[in-house]
Amino acid sequence: MPTVADIPVNGDHWIGGQRVSSPTTFDDHSPIDGHLIGQIARGTATETHAAVTAAHTAFPAWAATPRTERARLLHAIADGVEKRLNDLAIVETTDNGALLRSHLRGVMPRVAHNFRFFADWLLHLDHPDFTTRGHTNHVSWDPAGVCALITPWNAPLMLATWKIAPALAAGNTVVLKPAEWTPLTASLLADITAEAGLPPGVFNLVQGYGAEAGAPLVADPRVRRISFTGSVPTARHIAAAAAPNLTPLSLELGGKSPLIVFADADLDLAVTLAVEQYDNAGQVCLAGTRLLVEDSVAEEFTTRFTARAAALHQGDPRDLTVDLGPNIHPTHLARIDGFVQRALTAGATAALGGAPNPDLGGLYYRPTLITGAAPDSEIVTEEVFGPVLTLQTFTTEDQAVQLANATRFGLAATLLTGDPDRAERVSAQLVAGTVWVNCFFVRDLQAPFGGARQSGVGREGGTWSFDFYCDLKNTVSAPWAK
Ligand code: NAD
Repeated sequence: MPTVADIPVNGDHWIGGQRVSSPTTFDDHSPIDGHLIGQIARGTATETHAAVTAAHTAFPAWAATPRTERARLLHAIADGVEKRLNDLAIVETTDNGALLRSHLRGVMPRVAHNFRFFADWLLHLDHPDFTTRGHTNHVSWDPAGVCALITPWNAPLMLATWKIAPALAAGNTVVLKPAEWTPLTASLLADITAEAGLPPGVFNLVQGYGAEAGAPLVADPRVRRISFTGSVPTARHIAAAAAPNLTPLSLELGGKSPLIVFADADLDLAVTLAVEQYDNAGQVCLAGTRLLVEDSVAEEFTTRFTARAAALHQGDPRDLTVDLGPNIHPTHLARIDGFVQRALTAGATAALGGAPNPDLGGLYYRPTLITGAAPDSEIVTEEVFGPVLTLQTFTTEDQAVQLANATRFGLAATLLTGDPDRAERVSAQLVAGTVWVNCFFVRDLQAPFGGARQSGVGREGGTWSFDFYCDLKNTVSAPWAK
């Protein structure tokens, strides 16, 4: 079994191109077996202030660095990620419990791609000049300044680099505050940026808890952009902290997305995609956790789904044959189980699972399907963020749309049907940032990504990322005298 023991990870901050410690540290435990895997510097306002100062100081030179040179450095970081892909995958799996095979085959290659994509996009970022009564309009994307990036634990390096890459490409400098439950791969990334030759202060990392390190970072008036991925309650704190400085915000938040199965759908595909919603032990913001199934196929769907889900191999995520790993933390596991037990007490049924998996010890929760829950109950409307799906049935297309839109979230929706007209009609009515028709999790960095309602504010991806991380400027020039 691969282990982190041979991969040194520095637990300190990375500020102005140097390792910086704090007077105190906190322990980082693996969700796989509870082992202590790191002692991490516990950042406070002192370190965030120093990091913003470093980023602020480095900004003018980095903003003035030619695009081609910025792009070259981002590609060099991508090279470094590829060179250390195995280390990054093992460290991430040990730190957050997601499958090693996903990190090796999908996530870490995507981390490198994040840098390559935004480096290349930068070189083609352009708006054609246009004229107004003989005057030339020239649109430019000017870097905004210091960007504060705050990220969660469920896909730590993937989500962090999705922000870091466009922010740096655009000519900004960055202070990253990763989640306290998964601090390790961000530290490896700091090493990689240094080896790639990124100038000191362009990328900075402050470790620590949200209230102690995140809060002073987002409140710093020198920060010109805040990009946050995480939960709705934290987003409210961050928006309030940003308000006095009117700091522009991008918020990528939670979801309670529907997966709608019409009777005319390919039922095999529907079952396959529904089982995929347990990926990463259900800790995926985009997961279609509400299965909405047309009455006439509900029984057959449920039978086939429960058989497939019950056969998932649950265990140590470093084992490449395992399908379902642990959840992140004891507190989080208790929260997941709390949702399930309250639903069962209120009269719902666990058609599958419904409890932690005691055979494995630790933080493993059995893949769970809840049926018979009231449509307005918390298990149906609130984000559980664990391997827990609900199933509801519908009779008409209107009913399906009404159920799909019946939460305060609007991140994504998946729709399975054999009828292209129905697909067009229904997807037009769904409140969601992304709609997948007869597919799931197909994501291209060119596409806008974000959520409607309380799933987020703003969109990132392609030019939308540059729009967010830049101040757009229009320079209007009178004709020059001949
Ligand atoms: P969280 O909100 O608890 O924490 C996210 C980050 O915010 C952490 O780094 C934390 O330390 C920091 N933080 C906490 N309080 C802060 C404060 N007052 N000021 C500044 N920073 C603070 O979220 P989480 O539990 O780490 O992540 C799970 C949530 O993230 C789920 O709701 C999930 O849906 C969401 N998520 C959304 C997306 C998306 O793209 N929409 C992707 C992944 C996860």
